Amino acid sequence: MAKVDELGRMIADAENIVAFTGAGISTESGIPDFRSPGGIWTKYRPIEFGEFLASAEARRESWRRKFATHETMQKATPNAGHRALARLVAQGRMPAIVTQNIDGLHQASGVPDDKVIELHGNTTYAACLDCRRRYELDWVREIFAIDERLPLCTACGGIVKTATISFGQSMPEAAMQQAQEATLAADLFIVLGSSLVVYPAAGFPILAKRNGSRLVIVNRDPTDQDELADLVINAEIGSTISRAVGVN
Ligand SMILES: [Zn+2]
Repeated sequence: MAKVDELGRMIADAENIVAFTGAGISTESGIPDFRSPGGIWTKYRPIEFGEFLASAEARRESWRRKFATHETMQKATPNAGHRALARLVAQGRMPAIVTQNIDGLHQASGVPDDKVIELHGNTTYAACLDCRRRYELDWVREIFAIDERLPLCTACGGIVKTATISFGQSMPEAAMQQAQEATLAADLFIVLGSSLVVYPAAGFPILAKRNGSRLVIVNRDPTDQDELADLVINAEIGSTISRAVGVN
């Protein structure tokens, strides 16, 4: 049986499917993988969270980088992979998508906010680090356009930062808890486009497998967890999952 048909049968047989998505599903929408060779993080040293807090210049540099890549992010739209998962969510067969991505494309494909568990936050908006009030990026950009002035929370005066989890910033507790609960409830756990190298996020497929779920890894390249998996498909994400789900 072709591997994609095998995946299709596993999906048809499962009752509680959880997807775990990484950069690979979004590169097919034109979003660069920051960690890949030639990616932004191989050219620039990441700004760690402590540095961001301590230094106004680090905050300015962070916003400069953000606005340099902003248009690429804004132009990206969901692809066949996102749409196939949205279909499974709409059918009530996929209670959660756990994602390492920060691009908001699962929500853009029609998946409700409460079904998308973002382990590394979201870069399509900003938030106050103290009171968590949300700010849109256009608001930040207008302020920053005036001599690179730094945005401050209008409610409490706190530092405003993109709603992502930076290097050195603690993981979001609520999201980690939700991801754990979803993982433990899954009978089929499908990794899509993650190289499974960034922990603690990459611990979830291991947890799923240890808990008795079937584990599938769909990724362009092999991963360190392939030997744990019931099925490994090294191929394009969008065409693979959409064929397995039976949507275009
Ligand atoms: Zn605030």
